[in-house]
Amino acid sequence: METPLHIHWSRPLPDGAQPTTVTVSRDTAGRYFISILVEDEIAPLPATVGQVGIDLGLHDVVVLDSGEKVGNPRFFTQDEKRLAKAQRRLAKKKLGSKNRDKARRKVARIHAHIADRRTDFLHQLSTRLIRENQTICVESLQVKAMVKHPTLAKAIHDVGWGEFVRQLEYKAAWYGRTLVKIDKWYPSSKRCSACGHILDSLTLDSRRWTCPECGRVHDRDVNAAQNILAVGLTVSAGGEAVRPGRVRPTPAGFREAGIPRL
Ligand SMILES: [Zn+2]
Repeated sequence: METPLHIHWSRPLPDGAQPTTVTVSRDTAGRYFISILVEDEIAPLPATVGQVGIDLGLHDVVVLDSGEKVGNPRFFTQDEKRLAKAQRRLAKKKLGSKNRDKARRKVARIHAHIADRRTDFLHQLSTRLIRENQTICVESLQVKAMVKHPTLAKAIHDVGWGEFVRQLEYKAAWYGRTLVKIDKWYPSSKRCSACGHILDSLTLDSRRWTCPECGRVHDRDVNAAQNILAVGLTVSAGGEAVRPGRVRPTPAGFREAGIPRL
C-alpha cells in the first residue's frame, strides 16, 4: 500500500503570489521532492558598474577576468571515491537479492548527493556573478563543445557548464542584467589580452605563457577570461569583434585567419 504524503507548507509566499501548480516527484535515490510553481513579480537589482568575463578552465570550474578562480573540480574527488567504492560493492551482489537492492540505493544516494552539491555550487556562483555585475560575458556552449578534447569535454560535463549558463541567462533576465554569449569561435586562449598578438599554437597543458610580442606573462585561463570580457563588451556595444565565417574549426585543430584586433 502506498503511504499517503502529507504536506505542511509553512513558508509564506511572496505578497500576492498564488501557487499555480504543485508537483510531487521521487528520484532514483528514493527521495521525495515537492515543487511549487508560483507567479511573482521580480524586482530588478539596482544597476551596477561591474562587468565580468568568464572562462571555463580545465583546472578550475570558473575563471574570472579578475584572476579569481572558483570551484576546483577536485572538490568532488572524495564523492567520486565513495561512488566508485559503492559501485564496486554493487557489482559483487547477487542479482535479485535484497542486498543488491540496498547497494543500488546506496549508489543512487551518492549520485544524488553529488548532483545536489554541484547544483548548489552553481546557484551560489551564478547568483553572486549576477549581483555583482551589470554585464556578464561567456562563451556559448556550442563554442565550448567545439573543443574536442576528452579531458575538457569531461570537465565541461562535470561542472554542468550548460546548466551554469542557463542559470546566468534566466537570472540576468530576472534582475535586469546583460548576458553576452559569444557564439563564434574566438582564439580566447591564444590571444594576448595585453597587445592582441595571437599565438600559432598553445597546447592544453600550457598553464602559463609569455607573449613573444609584448613580454607579458599570462595565466592561460585568466587571459582567456580577459579576452572573453573584451569581445563581449565589443559585441554588446554593437561592434563586430568576431566576423562570421572568418574563423572555422578544422579537424586537426583550428585555423585562424583575419581575426581583427579589438
Ligand atoms: Zn602581448
